[in-house]
Amino acid sequence: MSFSGKVQYEFAKRVFEELLREKPKFSEHLSPAKTPILLLDTEGIKSRYVQIKYQMQEVEVYYAVKANDHPKVIESLAEVGSGFEVASTEELRKVLGAGVAPEKIISSNPVKPLDFIDFAYSRGVKRFALDSFEEVEKIRKVAPRARVYVRITVPNEGSDWPLSRKFGTDLDEALELLEYSQRRGLVPIGITFHVGSQCNNLRNWFIAIKRAATLWNRAKEKGIKLLTLNMGGGIPVRYAYEAIKVEDIAYYVRGLLRKYFPSPPHELQIEPGRGIVGDQGLMITRVIGKARRGGENWLYIDSGVFNGLAEALGGIRYAFYLRAEGELKEWVIGGVSCDSMDVVAKSVYLPEPRVGDFLFIPSAGAYTTVYASNFNGFPQPEVLCL
Ligand SMILES: *Cc1c(COP(=O)(O)O)cnc(C)c1O
Repeated sequence: MSFSGKVQYEFAKRVFEELLREKPKFSEHLSPAKTPILLLDTEGIKSRYVQIKYQMQEVEVYYAVKANDHPKVIESLAEVGSGFEVASTEELRKVLGAGVAPEKIISSNPVKPLDFIDFAYSRGVKRFALDSFEEVEKIRKVAPRARVYVRITVPNEGSDWPLSRKFGTDLDEALELLEYSQRRGLVPIGITFHVGSQCNNLRNWFIAIKRAATLWNRAKEKGIKLLTLNMGGGIPVRYAYEAIKVEDIAYYVRGLLRKYFPSPPHELQIEPGRGIVGDQGLMITRVIGKARRGGENWLYIDSGVFNGLAEALGGIRYAFYLRAEGELKEWVIGGVSCDSMDVVAKSVYLPEPRVGDFLFIPSAGAYTTVYASNFNGFPQPEVLCL
């Protein structure tokens, strides 16, 4: 048994034990009749919002609904006064349905379906991101006086779920887009960026804020006075490894803003998704099989990349914990479906499980249920809000 294997297992165990200490109400639900299931602490979600808000008092928080759009999540955040970031008609309906005022809703996806823009504008949502000339045309067609902010590219190094290749533009084009939006009757209000999801690299915020400030000043020279700096998402949570803390990000970002924005923007925004719901959820799955193949130990669980653990495909390394005794062994964790792509993790150190044992996956509150399908006829995780 390798030393690093022991360290990995001890870390997962500590994460699990700390989670139960923090959320004693989870303890009664650790042997569910039906799996997979996601236990979600909605009070914890509210506290997390309050904590982020406390750490970043000058910043407005718009929860990125795509991380977890469960009605109870939206309701809980609405209750504590959060804003919301939405990308689709369905997400917007859910948020409006929870009684949230349209002024508290923004849409930062730079490329949106036309019918969504139309619907959102007609319901009073007025702020949209963009990063292309085509999007200016689309927005002006159905939302002629919309307020727009431009998405710039920033480095996503050290983010486990990078987003920078798909969206964002350079500063020259961003400036043109702001000017062009204004000529077309829209109201250019600001700049947005996303440092990458699960961002454990403070340097990304540094480059991003510095770049945003450069564009901010260049726009000012052109007579465009911007109001809003939207700093996107990216706050990480603890998976199989430690994550930087929101208080450290807040401290660092505050320093950067002071340095690069001597006269502060009228509105500062963040759009955390993972950082609000991620560590408020515990996924419980069951071991359904074991095998030894090609010298490797495989265990199979009743969830997988198609019904809850999609992020395992793209770089998220979950912590896994089993209540068993005995010597640690190295395992490959296979998902429930017949697809060979459905592998949840490799090199996971666990004591030998029995078929039927529960396998616990902490920090599974974000980007799990929302990604889940019924591929191969397997159920999506049930959600139990506590
Ligand atoms: C997904 C997304 C977010 C949330 O990102 P997290 O890393 O989960 O905080 C925020 N803003 C936009 C535009 C997004 O697409």
